Amino acid sequence: MIDAHRLDLDQALQLLQQAGALLPDEAPHSAPWLQAVLNALCDLSSRDALTGLVNRRSFEMALSREVDRVARAGEPALLLMLDIDHFKAVNDTHGHGVGDQVIRAVAGAVAQTVRPMDLVARVGGEEFAIILPNCATHVGLAVAERVRERVSELSIEVGPGQMLGVTVSLGGAFAPPWVRSSALLWTERADRQLYRAKAEGRNRACLEPQIDSLVSAEEKGMLFSPLNSDLQQDSP
Ligand code: GH3
Ligand code: MG
Ligand code: MG
Repeated sequence: MIDAHRLDLDQALQLLQQAGALLPDEAPHSAPWLQAVLNALCDLSSRDALTGLVNRRSFEMALSREVDRVARAGEPALLLMLDIDHFKAVNDTHGHGVGDQVIRAVAGAVAQTVRPMDLVARVGGEEFAIILPNCATHVGLAVAERVRERVSELSIEVGPGQMLGVTVSLGGAFAPPWVRSSALLWTERADRQLYRAKAEGRNRACLEPQIDSLVSAEEKGMLFSPLNSDLQQDSP
């Protein structure tokens, strides 16, 4: 059994305080208090400090879990990659502080546009990713367009009476259902569409054309057929 009073937790507690995290109410150094400190540290390490969104590490873990889920359940899931257009010009013209303000405003707008079950992450300087589980293929483009439009409607106050607007480009790809893919391949496919959106003029959304699954309906049925389970039972 650990003597919790002998643990040096000063640095951890200082980190939490600096980040504005609420410190646990439980009696200091009790097991529930330690658990609450650990939970708060986990939350801190999975979030991006500027926007409060999920960070890249957490996004990658969530994406791998989604790849597994799609392969198991066959439900379509969409990955959208999003990048602010001409963002360097915002920094160059208005300064880094305003740039940060724009990143926060875009993050907020994106998070408000998607469903609570969708995961919005900041994966780079002015780059975001959205994982949309259980997203029907015929609505994918409409969802991406809704995000694009919402950001283009932002009017960000960057000085007294000085408003600024920005646009984003989006690229998207669906995870191939019933096929075990990888988070990396899925991200690369969505990124390719993002490059296409940039090349085609920015302020637009491009989705990978849908190819019908190479797995036939009959084959999908076989995954769960009694024949299949018989085979498993018969095997030594
Ligand atoms: P494009 O339309 O092709 O995306 O052009 P862009 O200018 O947005 O693209 P680029 O990737 O060249 O520029 C991104 C800039 O974002 C470069 C970098 O200085 C800036 N940046 C990265 N992280 C941050 C940050 O946390 N805050 C601020 N203010 N700027 C950042
Ligand atoms: Mg970029
Ligand atoms: Mg950019």
